[in-house]
Amino acid sequence: MLVTSDSEIKVLLGKLPKAELHLHLEGTLLPHRILSLAQKYSVPVDWNEVHSRYNTRNFTQFLELYKWATSFLREAEDYALLAEDAAAAFHEQGIVYAEITLSAGVMLLRKQNVTANFIALRDVFHRRAQSGTGPQTQFIFDAVRQFGSAPAMEVARMAADLRNEGVVAFGLGGDELSVPLSEFHSAYSYAAEHGLHLLAHAGETGGPEQIKDAIDILHAERIGHGIAALRSTALMNTLAERKIPLEICPSSNLRTNALNIQLNSATSDLSQHPLPKFFRHGIPVTLSTDDPAMFHTTLLDEYSAALQMGLSLDDLLVINRTAFEQSFLSDPARQSFLVQLTPVSPES
Ligand SMILES: [Zn+2]
Repeated sequence: MLVTSDSEIKVLLGKLPKAELHLHLEGTLLPHRILSLAQKYSVPVDWNEVHSRYNTRNFTQFLELYKWATSFLREAEDYALLAEDAAAAFHEQGIVYAEITLSAGVMLLRKQNVTANFIALRDVFHRRAQSGTGPQTQFIFDAVRQFGSAPAMEVARMAADLRNEGVVAFGLGGDELSVPLSEFHSAYSYAAEHGLHLLAHAGETGGPEQIKDAIDILHAERIGHGIAALRSTALMNTLAERKIPLEICPSSNLRTNALNIQLNSATSDLSQHPLPKFFRHGIPVTLSTDDPAMFHTTLLDEYSAALQMGLSLDDLLVINRTAFEQSFLSDPARQSFLVQLTPVSPES
């Protein structure tokens, strides 16, 4: 493809119909929304506190921020508002399809009405898609690993109950170093028996064995992050041979210190991120934001970051195509998106 300048590339990437597969809706909560929700619930919060909490430097700080920010999401209309903000932001970036993760485990912990929250936000996304002002969406219900296996089973049951309402997958996020993945086997089996796809965060701050367990024990179809694979050539070979995708979120990995952990280094930067290595090894990789407001990023920023890592525009077009291919869309819906993508010519 004859595109030379950085600005031309950015324009092209902006216009490219894109898919976003690893995104937590709660992670799109913008600082100004926190302030308005805090006011609604009469919680004293000032701008300095929001600013300092949104400046995460490691995974523990991030989990604290996530817990604090989601404490302002208390009823269905709060989630609907969040969906409005998110749909508008996705549309602006050319995202035409998103698989959106919801922390159903957190909603259950807070004794919220998960179904009411879900229907309210889903209806916003559906309305936006119908009016051409937002992406098409499907949803993933995430359990929280450190809460343990019983609450995870409850999330799997909720996801199965809402299977016909737009929930397509069950996943697991949170602290990888807390509860072993084997303890979630029954929740994953239940989800699979009820027609849900299976996902897991693994190899973000944990080691390569987490990815192996997610595949072998839980039968996860895609791996969230998976950057620990850089520490095991055998695992990289397996991912490439079995075509198991990694949902890569570079800004998140820098903000949570996950890349430092995997490199066993006090500091790291984008040039050390394993995305190009995975891509060239033949592992299916996709690019995502994870928690864009909390990590001060957008999907376009992530594509720019990948360019800085040495990937070419054509590589990025392959990565975007991979996201549609590895999505949980029905085959006809997937095809209707794939035909809209720019063909990638091998000689360019
Ligand atoms: Zn995530």
